[in-house]
Amino acid sequence: MGIFDTHAHYYKDDFGEDLETLLADLPCRNVERVLAIGCDLPSSEEEIALAAKYDYIYAAVGVHPEHAANLPDNWESRLEELLKCEKVVALGEIGLDNHYPEPPKDVQRGVFVKQLEIAKRLDKTVIIHSREAMGDTLELLKEYKPRGVMHCFSGSVESMREVVKLGMYIGFTGALTFKNSLKARAVCAETPIDRLLLETDCPYMAPVPHRGERSDSSMIQYTAAVMAEIKGVSTEEMIETARRNGERLFFGEELK
Ligand SMILES: [Zn+2]
Repeated sequence: MGIFDTHAHYYKDDFGEDLETLLADLPCRNVERVLAIGCDLPSSEEEIALAAKYDYIYAAVGVHPEHAANLPDNWESRLEELLKCEKVVALGEIGLDNHYPEPPKDVQRGVFVKQLEIAKRLDKTVIIHSREAMGDTLELLKEYKPRGVMHCFSGSVESMREVVKLGMYIGFTGALTFKNSLKARAVCAETPIDRLLLETDCPYMAPVPHRGERSDSSMIQYTAAVMAEIKGVSTEEMIETARRNGERLFFGEELK
């Protein structure tokens, strides 16, 4: 049993013509399962199409905070329709991002809250993006208590503990392998091993020794090796544990 990449963005705009070749090849490179994640309605539809084509791909649909402005009037009902498509296992990625001034905070918050409400109503797992917005994110997570993951976790050990207490999972990308990732490594060391997820966030966040290149799900082996060292287990064991964690969260049970 191989890698479960719980956070990938496979968009034609980023990968170009060789996207299909890459996706056809990933299962030969120890990639067992991929959760392909949308960041707006069109990219969510793109990931649903990939899930329909490839057995090992599942989809998540949602509106990323960077895309929270200028949504069509019917975006909520469109999103609900997409959530009912086959192989859509989560609502994401959604959240708050204060790294750039746009879209304004209140616009991001409004769209995030609406999606937390939809997740509650339809009983969907959520994938949370939170950058430079931990306080506000935690406040909303405590209010809505969704089932889900804080993806590419960048908070403190204290915030991680609050997230874990809410029953949520903690995801780490290739950024964990960067030399300056001392904070993330410290948080990873303190996170219960049964709450850790492996992610690429591809095409971004390629792990060392591929930093700066376009990443894909097979590169998770490098992130897994660093995570394994932090947790004091073998790389195979870490890949296996993270895969089972992801299956528990997104499929409700461990698949055989
Ligand atoms: Zn992402």
